[in-house]
Amino acid sequence: MSTSPPPKAVPDATGHFGPYGGMFVPETLMAALQELTDEYAKAQEDPAFQTQLNHLLSEYVGRPTPLYFAERWTEKLGGARVYMKREDLLHTGAHKINNAMGQILLAKRMGKNRIIAETGAGQHGVATATVAARFGFECVIYMGAVDMERQALNVARMRFLGAKVVPVTAGQATLKEAINEAMRDWVTNVRDTHYILGSALGSHPYPMMVRDFHRVIGVEARRQILDKEGKLPDLLVACVGGGSNAIGLFHPFLEDTAVRMVGVEAGGERIETGKHAARFQGGKLGVLQGTKTYLLADDDGQIQLTHSVSAGLDYAAIGPEHAFYRDRGRTEYTYATDAEALAAFQEVSRVEGIIPALETAHALAYVTVEAPKLGSDQIIVVNCSGRGDKDVEQAAKHIFGDDVLAQDTP
Ligand SMILES: *Cc1c(COP(=O)(O)O)cnc(C)c1O
Repeated sequence: MSTSPPPKAVPDATGHFGPYGGMFVPETLMAALQELTDEYAKAQEDPAFQTQLNHLLSEYVGRPTPLYFAERWTEKLGGARVYMKREDLLHTGAHKINNAMGQILLAKRMGKNRIIAETGAGQHGVATATVAARFGFECVIYMGAVDMERQALNVARMRFLGAKVVPVTAGQATLKEAINEAMRDWVTNVRDTHYILGSALGSHPYPMMVRDFHRVIGVEARRQILDKEGKLPDLLVACVGGGSNAIGLFHPFLEDTAVRMVGVEAGGERIETGKHAARFQGGKLGVLQGTKTYLLADDDGQIQLTHSVSAGLDYAAIGPEHAFYRDRGRTEYTYATDAEALAAFQEVSRVEGIIPALETAHALAYVTVEAPKLGSDQIIVVNCSGRGDKDVEQAAKHIFGDDVLAQDTP
């Protein structure tokens, strides 16, 4: 497995994707971000780094992941041929570990001995705690107190892995507050600590670096679909929280202008203030947690409440690179509501025997709408970003109601 080096076009040297991105951080973090940028540039040129990363990706993380032809679902939808990129089969159950593994190798190169991270649903926390255990680093995970209750299973996993999980009780006590707390820790402990940020968000160099560590998804998918079908797909689909799994799939296809790319945001209950997390539906330009991008804010710039049935999509800002390609018309964005995602969760579980993460279910919901509109000679590749084990309890409540054990599936 080898990952071809990423194109250097964007971002520029200060992390700008056109008007988006940049480095909006306290002065005290600038030296650490510069060190990280320099070390990352060196690592990219270092064949030993790439060899070690590729070795760990294949032996420990479980790459390459299959590109699976969803035969029964395709038949049922009655249109395009649907392929699923199976990131859900990776160690720890989601794409997040591609990035966590890359970053811990960088931390090692920089001589750090302590790792911190934020987490929402807990998937990034688990991936980070996993690589920290693998390399013997001290590890502290910041997590909103509300999320800790909703995702108790992942809290236990992180603790088994030897990480300290710190509850954050400020504000909404969810992901945004957890990131604030992680940044506060970093400012204080920057000399011996590396912050493994979990999505294509935050200050430069994170959006670029996280993207690059996930490009392997698209690099593999491109080669696999050419092997299987002898041509490129017509449409790529991925769910978009911060945007890391989506940009990882999309990026190696950017130059293939005949390939449409659609990101699916969380429509929540409906598109109304406080009820969703679809930043391109009523969002505006602003700065949040290190980067300038589209976000959900009021007229005074105050960040609005967000809602999604999937914690991993429930964040007020989108990665800056997505905003950049959207302006250029290269990528498109739509949304799926909680109800649509839950319906797709059920359908794909039953028809394919694959229980997807609720985040992933948003992308699958769009496929159920779009595939029937396309011809049987057309191809869709959808990124199956994670598996649904973590969501079983929540999905059961929605689908079976309170009486989970008494009922067969409705
Ligand atoms: C975290 C997560 C997401 C959302 O994050 P992105 O950075 O947008 O990819 C999507 N799917 C799964 C399974 C996740 O764990």
